[in-house]
Amino acid sequence: MDKYQVLKQYFGYDTFREGQEALIDGILAGRDVFGIMPTGSGKSLCFQIPALMMEGITLVISPLISLMKDQVSTLNQAGVHAAYLNSSLTAGQYYKALSLAREGRYPIIYVAPERLETEGFLDFALHAKITMVAVDESHCVSQWGQDFRPSYLKIVDFIKKLPKRPVVSAFTATATKEVREDIIDILMLQDPVVVTTGYDRPNLYLGVQSPKDKYAALKNFVEIHPGQCGIIYCLTRKLVEEVSDRLRADGISVTRYHAGLSDKERRQNQDDFIYDRCQVMVATNAFGMGIDKSNVRYVIHYNMPKSIEAFYQEIGRCSRDQEPGECILFYSGQDVVTNQLFIDNNQDNQELDPLTRQIVQERDRDRLRKMTFYCFTNECLRDYILRYFGEYGSNYCGNCQNCISQFENVDVTDIAGALIGCVSSCRQRYGVNVIIDTVRGANTAKIRQYRMDSNAYYSALAKVPAHRLRMVMNHLMLQDFLTVTNDEYAIVKLTGKSLQVLEEGEPVVMKMAKEQDHPAKIKSEKKTRKNKTAGVSLSDADEGLFEKLRTLRMEIAREENVPPYIVFSDKTLVSMCMVKPRTKAEMLTVSGVGEFKFEKYGERFLACVMEEAGAIGSEGDPADEPYDTGGDDLYFTSDSDEFDDWNLETAMDAWENGSQEKPEPDKKKKGKKTKTEFIMTQELAEQIHYSEKASLSDLIGQINDLRDGESMKRLTIKSVEQWLNDIGNFEIWFLNGTPRKRLTEEGEEFGIQAEKRLSDKGNEYDVFYYSKKAQKRIVEWLLGNGG
Ligand code: ADP
Ligand code: MG
Ligand code: ZN
Repeated sequence: MDKYQVLKQYFGYDTFREGQEALIDGILAGRDVFGIMPTGSGKSLCFQIPALMMEGITLVISPLISLMKDQVSTLNQAGVHAAYLNSSLTAGQYYKALSLAREGRYPIIYVAPERLETEGFLDFALHAKITMVAVDESHCVSQWGQDFRPSYLKIVDFIKKLPKRPVVSAFTATATKEVREDIIDILMLQDPVVVTTGYDRPNLYLGVQSPKDKYAALKNFVEIHPGQCGIIYCLTRKLVEEVSDRLRADGISVTRYHAGLSDKERRQNQDDFIYDRCQVMVATNAFGMGIDKSNVRYVIHYNMPKSIEAFYQEIGRCSRDQEPGECILFYSGQDVVTNQLFIDNNQDNQELDPLTRQIVQERDRDRLRKMTFYCFTNECLRDYILRYFGEYGSNYCGNCQNCISQFENVDVTDIAGALIGCVSSCRQRYGVNVIIDTVRGANTAKIRQYRMDSNAYYSALAKVPAHRLRMVMNHLMLQDFLTVTNDEYAIVKLTGKSLQVLEEGEPVVMKMAKEQDHPAKIKSEKKTRKNKTAGVSLSDADEGLFEKLRTLRMEIAREENVPPYIVFSDKTLVSMCMVKPRTKAEMLTVSGVGEFKFEKYGERFLACVMEEAGAIGSEGDPADEPYDTGGDDLYFTSDSDEFDDWNLETAMDAWENGSQEKPEPDKKKKGKKTKTEFIMTQELAEQIHYSEKASLSDLIGQINDLRDGESMKRLTIKSVEQWLNDIGNFEIWFLNGTPRKRLTEEGEEFGIQAEKRLSDKGNEYDVFYYSKKAQKRIVEWLLGNGG
């Protein structure tokens, strides 16, 4: 079979999407490849299709149990033998899968990175014919990525151990330059075929507003978009509750989603939205993963999110069918503060050592700052985003608020001069607020305490309104006339360009909007669109058929215990409504119907189409009961208690430790049993594989993998680290006010080695490795005191 036949036969599609062919061809020619494509663009097919065409086994490394399960279900549904190996399997299931793998039963095996170095798996891998290692979500190798996973660093060691180097393919949706370079370096891709497909979504209108009354603005927006579906993203669960309650009280068809709701309610609400039973979804960022609803016409950010990455992923759910959509961000200063708090108190970072934690926090602050600048830039908003991802925009897109607003150039040299002068005269010691309060001449305790009331610039700009000062300040930072430190103090510093203004009198000119045209107003002139399903207007009769097909899909999904979209996507159902196939051949022309799926369900769907054709006019009864995955809550495990931050580690933990929610009495869920604290048993200890040199997270990852995850919580790095500190293996010292950790003589004696590394900024720091002896001592301690 050639690749087109595989595409049709297994996946039911006729044409490849942008980028897919180049990557597939590269792999088939034996080259390494690197695909950088946005979420939803179809990266999985790029490794699955060649995997089915090549001899031997493709290992797919994937970070998240739910993603693996989803993809393996999809493949199984398409008639492909595939399996996954991760900690969700019991030991029995694991060895069974491994022995089937040895027999060559699976062309595609998904595996968690932690598994790669376990003895059982290695033994299999060394004796199997592994043709390709596909690294999905490959940004996890990078410290600069959103979701760094130390275990991803083991991939390359694993590949080196294989008798013959397989093709290595890597895929990610994260496109910042640092991350891309990291992926190529760390995975040691050899002269890869690199394919980047467009991040641009020209059909999305982008806008930023700072309404005084956010709720009123939101309500107005929703009301002038009647009959259209939209998502409202809020930063906190509390706000989700509040906003959805108010919208409901105001008569809007609304539902809500956040990680604090029961599984049942989330599932129900998500379905209500997906199946258009509710028009508006109010949600935290926990909502949206794997959601392929294509008729979402607007995405409103009720709060500014924490990063451009998060923002772009969220607005990416708008108008996936290429129809026009609107993405409006409601900015307020409080959003910055809230996000700062999240960064400072991020529970996910607690397990990191102090230095890594500090690096991660700096990175997050930097991201937040760039997100904030998005809200202040007067340049093309699309261009700003594309540049952030390392792409070149056109400077003018014509479909964002800034491109359609009237701007005037305003000379702000005087203001800029005073701000920069103030920074310079206080010897670059204070943050933005102190600088602005000083030039405004504010009489606050802080200003008096810092003696800024006797600074030469005190009150120099008393006549300029504060918001204008802030705009100029942001402009200065955007244009690199000033910068701020990445630490929690965010101190304003001079740059090379500062002096041009201060000493050479270079003029600073800034674009300012003449009048804030409310984009909603412009849009409200438009006629309201007819309801659409998956981006296509169906006639009333076809709507009826669509409902029928959907009910059938739901029935099958229940029988097979998979989510409905794994049976057929909405798009495929709509396509069935249009084609109205009467024969197998006709059914196979429907996009998304392949041979295998036809064998499984084709006849039932054909019968449904025929029946409807003979019975137009009879009442349809959609009867969509909430779909029950029978205890499989993997699709919804993106919980973090504090804040619904979609984070791979958190999701893993939430799954493995059971979520924090109250168990529902009538559900027999295996994941919901209360778990005991981690205990090291003799039996577990005997299974541990001690390598010559391992990081602490490697060792603990392995231990967690080996433990019985159903009854026992994870061992945390923090607890072990605490003990290692307590017994004097490390000491903390301060370099320029930042804590550094270094090894003591006791630590060396213990068997820990330190290796010097250079951070991005050129600071030296230590990375610690544990010898066999040290690893054993840790395990002995765990055995002794129960962890
Ligand atoms: P990504 O990993 O890039 O986020 P996926 O691989 O999960 O995206 O694919 C997203 C959706 O696109 C899936 O439903 C998949 O079946 C569909 N898809 C992929 N390739 C094609 C294609 N060539 N034609 C139609 N649909 C496709
Ligand atoms: Mg993917
Ligand atoms: Zn623009």
